[in-house]
Amino acid sequence: MPSGAELIRRAKDEITEVDPKDVRGLTESPNGEVIVDVREQNEFEESHLPGAVHVPRGHLESRIEGAARDKSERVVLYCASGNRSALAAKTLKDELGYSNVESMTGGITLWKDRGYDVEVPRRLTAEQRERYSRHILIPEIGLEGQLKLLDAKVLLLGAGGLGSPTALYLAAAGVGTLGIVDDDVVDLSNLQRQIAHSNDRIGVPKVDSAEQAIHDINPDVEVVKYQTRLDASNIMEIIEGYHAIVDGVDNFPTRYLLNDATVRLQIPVVSASILGFDGQLSVFAPYDGPCYRCLYPTPPPAELAPSCGANGVLGALPGIMGVLQAIEVVKLVTGAGEPLIGRLLLYEALGTTFTNLKLRRDPDCPICSRPPGEISDEEMGVFPDYESFCAAAG
Ligand SMILES: [Zn+2]
Repeated sequence: MPSGAELIRRAKDEITEVDPKDVRGLTESPNGEVIVDVREQNEFEESHLPGAVHVPRGHLESRIEGAARDKSERVVLYCASGNRSALAAKTLKDELGYSNVESMTGGITLWKDRGYDVEVPRRLTAEQRERYSRHILIPEIGLEGQLKLLDAKVLLLGAGGLGSPTALYLAAAGVGTLGIVDDDVVDLSNLQRQIAHSNDRIGVPKVDSAEQAIHDINPDVEVVKYQTRLDASNIMEIIEGYHAIVDGVDNFPTRYLLNDATVRLQIPVVSASILGFDGQLSVFAPYDGPCYRCLYPTPPPAELAPSCGANGVLGALPGIMGVLQAIEVVKLVTGAGEPLIGRLLLYEALGTTFTNLKLRRDPDCPICSRPPGEISDEEMGVFPDYESFCAAAG
């Protein structure tokens, strides 16, 4: 049996090694190659090469394809001193069929000795580590995804039936900033479904009541309150800078206005609606999928528009749809999975059916068929006057 040192020597003979100075060139002007740190989690968190992805050697076989899908692309491995990465390079080459793999000589130790730049990753506090531990354990989210959530700014339109569960779950998930637009106060009739509010907060503005509920779950979330109605005069100012918008808007005029403004600013909207026992959900990601106007170029006739007045709804239904919205937001922020872009999900509670419909972009869409810079203020949300539209619906 060869000794450990002998095994490493042999591996180095069989693989290609690369000097840190050549890898430095790659970190400064990347050219499609993948730089992989094969050390342990704690070593990676201490500091690593700029742009490096982390695939610990113990998880090499199971995770490398997530980092380097194409087995012919250039993969540079490194560790602390160049030994573990040499063994890992041999595995990739001999057993996994990677044809262009190298190991960096001297590892990050030599890299640092030469005074090259390293990235010192942000860390979670001990409390955050514990609070988000169940997220960090999911590979699709992990520490990196949790940091993205902590940096995310998400705007909730409405703190009502849909906005309540969305707000609570996004707060619990650690979304760093939650904006809430709502001009209403908590009413007794809301409490059948709007679970962010409570009996002792009847009469309190919903933005304040929701803030209280959010901070009861997670005091780290920054809440930005807009106790107003979204309209043409304030929409651009309010929504700009948010990474995603959760739309629980209950009227068509605002939906059109929101659509046009978010296409212009290229902000994805996770949109849901509910009525009776039925819910609908879709993600409108500007230019990646259809926008709201691609599907509904004009609103339905006012007398058929159910959303302008008070309507009946099963109390738990917005819970389902709002939580689905929260999940879509987490996916958009972290990049996990396939968001519901170009698809419409229909949930019918009485029959317990979920139906997924494909949606297509309309090449003649009045809004998203043009580049965002061409959408003017005057055009936004324009169709027959909003107020009279809802007044007609009673
Ligand atoms: Zn469109």
